[in-house]
Amino acid sequence: MTTTIIGYPRIGSHRELKFAVQKYFKHEITADELAQTAAELRQQNWQTVSAAGIDQLTSNDFSYYDITLDTATLFNIVPKRYKDLNLSTLDEYFAQARGYQGDNGDVTALSMKKWFNTNYHYLVPEFDDDTDVKLVGTKIFDEYKEAKAQGYATRPALVGPYTLLQLGQYNGSKQARDYAADLIKAYDAVLSQLADLGAEWIQLDEPALVKDQTEADLELFTDIYKPLLSNKHGLKVLAQTYFGDVRDSYDLLTSLDFDGLGLDFLEGAETLDLVTSKGFPADKTLFAGVINGKNIWKANYDEKLALIKQLPTDNVVLTTSCSLLHVPYTVENEDKLADKYIKYLAFAKEKLTELKDLDNILAGNGADALAANQALFAKPRYKENQAIIDQVAALKESDFHREPSFEERAAIQKKEFNLPELPTTTIGSFPQTREVRRNRAKYKRGEITKEQYDQFNRDQIKACVEFQEKIGIDVLVHGEYERNDMVEYFGEKLDGFLFTQNAWVQSYGTRCVKPPIIWGDVSRNAPITVAESVYAQSLTDKPMKGMLTGPVTILNWSFPREDISKKETTLQIALAIQEEVLDLEKNGIKIIQIDEAALREKLPLRKSDWYNRYLDWAIPAFRLVGSKVQATTQIHTHMCYSEFGDIIDAIDDMDADVISFEASRADLTLLDTLQEDHFKTHVGPGVYDIHSPRIPSEAEVAGTIHKILKKVPLDNVWINPDCGLKTRGTTETTASLENVVAATHQVRQEL
Ligand code: GLN
Ligand code: ZN
Repeated sequence: MTTTIIGYPRIGSHRELKFAVQKYFKHEITADELAQTAAELRQQNWQTVSAAGIDQLTSNDFSYYDITLDTATLFNIVPKRYKDLNLSTLDEYFAQARGYQGDNGDVTALSMKKWFNTNYHYLVPEFDDDTDVKLVGTKIFDEYKEAKAQGYATRPALVGPYTLLQLGQYNGSKQARDYAADLIKAYDAVLSQLADLGAEWIQLDEPALVKDQTEADLELFTDIYKPLLSNKHGLKVLAQTYFGDVRDSYDLLTSLDFDGLGLDFLEGAETLDLVTSKGFPADKTLFAGVINGKNIWKANYDEKLALIKQLPTDNVVLTTSCSLLHVPYTVENEDKLADKYIKYLAFAKEKLTELKDLDNILAGNGADALAANQALFAKPRYKENQAIIDQVAALKESDFHREPSFEERAAIQKKEFNLPELPTTTIGSFPQTREVRRNRAKYKRGEITKEQYDQFNRDQIKACVEFQEKIGIDVLVHGEYERNDMVEYFGEKLDGFLFTQNAWVQSYGTRCVKPPIIWGDVSRNAPITVAESVYAQSLTDKPMKGMLTGPVTILNWSFPREDISKKETTLQIALAIQEEVLDLEKNGIKIIQIDEAALREKLPLRKSDWYNRYLDWAIPAFRLVGSKVQATTQIHTHMCYSEFGDIIDAIDDMDADVISFEASRADLTLLDTLQEDHFKTHVGPGVYDIHSPRIPSEAEVAGTIHKILKKVPLDNVWINPDCGLKTRGTTETTASLENVVAATHQVRQEL
């Protein structure tokens, strides 16, 4: 067998690319200097992958910002508004990625969306009626040649034509299909040139196939690939899929003239079944994704070998389940994590070794590697927390239901809080100013004591409460000054989490995240937020919201365990957060917000899986957190995106008393769905967009409130910004919130 990967991370093991690109944005380095850094990173990657013994290397998996944007740019799919700026190719590229404001004009960025079920984001290619699809770029050839000059024969990777069309946004009257003919020509030109340059393979990434495919989808796929594969110019073509299985298109894929099919045997629940029951064509190579490209755990070799032995063909290339883009570079950069942890972890570089080990073992010369791996998995990785395991096992149906019913609670709470109509509140965080961050940094470096650190935050809370009282907000928050990140903060205080120093993963462009690792059973050993909330409540007679992160979001923004299900881990987290809820309640906090910012994030790619593989446990896990509180305690939740019109019933089923969400950018269209579905949960649909420094005027906010009132009954409406204010400046926040309160007063008078 041979080994390969689908792609390697590109931000640099110490985020070198991120910093170089940001410097370029600030005109601190030139385009040539940026290109130099990029070339060094590519060289290091090829060297690393090759040194690990991987047989087939990839190229064109590098990107300054995003691979989908690279592909669109390669094919001249660049909206006119960017071309009109008359910038250099590089600057035009960045203008699409992040907008442009300068001497040559003022344009916003392309929209950005989540890349399938990952936390990576791609830029949405925009097709206009006059978009002239043709091969204009050279990146894929340049990088192939660059590798070749260094002695590496690579397989260039490119987003495939079908996925590119499926991800596109169509602004005019033309639809995806109308661009197919030109796109086929453009891909054909790529194949032809790569063949001339001496490439053996090309990898066309077609992850769109793992979503539900309609007849029309499959027809489009056929209509693209039949002609494209009719002349491959001597090149071998790999159709690479990931993030799921290809149950709808397996027959089609095997019938078309591809030379290789890349299948995901981990997230693809039905992949093994497909290849064993239907067989795999003798004339194709199976690129078997057996090493997890998304998680950070060392693979269990016995399990992997058992899987590989079931494959119905010998013509196999061992690979990862998806690009390694979704994992950090290497555990070698983690010098603070004890070896007892490190030995169980495999980031990108270590996954290369795993592929090579499996290959060696199968070839009969990896006995030592196998023995070492077996020894590792023979012993338990961590000490189980039997108490929490039992607690999860003992959960009953009734633990997931709150009594009394929503309607009864609403009536009780109306009396309890006696809030004005259209109560105003905020989502939790207030601006994290430089002083706030500096205070935290000083504390982390040991320059100030815990007492000094806390005192600073208490002063911030006090000022924040005074401000909210002064401008007349009805339900207050403490401002979240003590939190760096809504998941990390809780992870650090719960048992069962590990934190890394350098395990960065690209989220989009220059933005990277460092998700915590869920190492063992999760439990809470002490109150987490009670002190801050109680202090904040002591400063005011108005209700102070306790502020927690929900279990599904904590799970979705961490690296989860693989030895137990996500459901099991989420229930453990839910029980921990439930204890926190009850402690807050016991200490006089009467309104508690449990944020589920990332609830929609891990919704399965196939609609048919939405409920049975996800929502059926995720929604109850949320309910568990708030199920034991008094009827007089009000549970709020917050979700970041308004794209949940299609799961609106599940959201209502969370049985929160109030939900706030981001609606201002979605033009409040979700309100129609709320209305049609008789959404019961009271809602704060976000009256202005906090993602922009723009200050909404009083009239504007009043207009928005009126729009909301046309769709949602007055009694159900809350008034708030659409997300936390932590990334905003103090000046615009003050002005915006004053306008929100003023607008609310105005509307109340008009009622
Ligand atoms: N309570 C959090 C905050 O205000 C919510 C953040 C989020 O939704 N991403 O910062
Ligand atoms: Zn939010």
